[in-house]
Amino acid sequence: MSAKRDYYEVLGVSKDTPASEIKAQYRKLALKFHPDRNKSSESGEHFKEISEAYGVLSDPEKRKVYDQQGHAGVDGRYSNDDIFEGARGDFSDLFGRTGGFDSIFESIFGRNGGSSYGQQRGSDILYETSVTLEDVLHGKKMEINLQKEIQCQICNGSGCKPNTKKNKCTACNGQGQVRKTRTMGYASFVTVETCSACKGQGSIIQTPCSECKGHGRKKGIKKISFDIPPGVDSGDYTVQQEGNEVPSGINGDLIVRIRVQSHPKFKRDGMDIFYDQDVSMIDATLGREITIPTLEGTEKLKVESGSQPNTIIKLKGKGVPHMNSKSRGDQYIRIIVNIPKKLSKHQKSLLDEFEKSYE
Ligand SMILES: [Zn+2]
Ligand SMILES: [Zn+2]
Repeated sequence: MSAKRDYYEVLGVSKDTPASEIKAQYRKLALKFHPDRNKSSESGEHFKEISEAYGVLSDPEKRKVYDQQGHAGVDGRYSNDDIFEGARGDFSDLFGRTGGFDSIFESIFGRNGGSSYGQQRGSDILYETSVTLEDVLHGKKMEINLQKEIQCQICNGSGCKPNTKKNKCTACNGQGQVRKTRTMGYASFVTVETCSACKGQGSIIQTPCSECKGHGRKKGIKKISFDIPPGVDSGDYTVQQEGNEVPSGINGDLIVRIRVQSHPKFKRDGMDIFYDQDVSMIDATLGREITIPTLEGTEKLKVESGSQPNTIIKLKGKGVPHMNSKSRGDQYIRIIVNIPKKLSKHQKSLLDEFEKSYE
C-alpha cells in the first residue's frame, strides 16, 4: 500500500480553509474526476482520493482527529463507509441522477471493494447531435432510434427460460452479500461484500433464457423522445435512465452531446447575437431605413444620418432565450460602411464638387 497523501494537499486547500470553501473545492474536483466524465484510467482513483479527503476535512470531528494524529488517527477510528458517507451525503445532487453517487462508489471500489452502496447500474450512452441557432431559439423535439442494451422481452429481464425459476444462492443464503471482517491499521471492522457466487443476485438461474442467454437484456433499438430546450448551448446534457438498461437495477443515462452549428449570418455569444450590416457611404451619411434579418424573420431599422463606421445598434430581446427563464438576449447590429472602390468619371466629379462645397 502506497503512502497516503496529505488530505489538504489532495484537495488543494490549506489548514485554515473554512468548511464552506472545502465544499466548493471538492465539488469542483469531483466534477473533474467524476469517472463518468473523465475517462482516464486514474480518474476513479483520484475521485476516491478526493472523496476520502473531503469526508474527513468536511467533518469537524474527523478533521480535528486528522489535524492532531494524521492518517493513523483517522484510519484507526473511522471505517471507510463512515468517511465516504460525508461526500455521499453532501453531494447526492452532484451527478444528476438517483443512485449516481452510489454506483460510482460501487464502480470505484469494485464489486468486492467493501461498499454496500447501491445496485447494479447500466452504462451511459453518448449520443451526438447538432442544432441550428434557430433551434436554439425555439427548442427542438427529438425522436431517435437508439441502439442499446434493453430488457429481454422473452424473460422480462429474469434471465430464466420461461416456466423455469431461479434457485436461492447457497453461498450467501440468498442475501446477495457476505459479511467479512477486515483489518486496517490497528482497527478492524466488518464490511459487507457482494456475493461472488451469484454476483449479488441472491439467486442462480437453473436454465438460462435462450433469447438473452441468461443476461436478462440484449442489444436492441428503442425509440426515445426528448426535448432540446430553447437557449441550449454546446455541451453535454443528460436524459436520465435512457442509457443501457439493467433489469432490476438502475439504467444508465443517455448523454446527449449537443453542438450548436455556426450560423451563416449571426455570431452568438451567450444569449446575445451579433450581425454585421453593410451600409453604403451615402446611406450612412444621409440616413435611411433598412431591413435586417433576425432569428425569426426581418426587422426594420433606422440608420441615423451621419452614422460612423462600426456603430453598434441594439435590438432589444432579439437574441436567444435563457435556458431556465423567460428572458432573452439582444441582437447587436454593427454598421459596416462601404466605401466605393470604383467610381465613374461622373461620380468622381460629383464628389469633387461636393468637396468644393466645404470651401
Ligand atoms: Zn431473456
Ligand atoms: Zn450469493
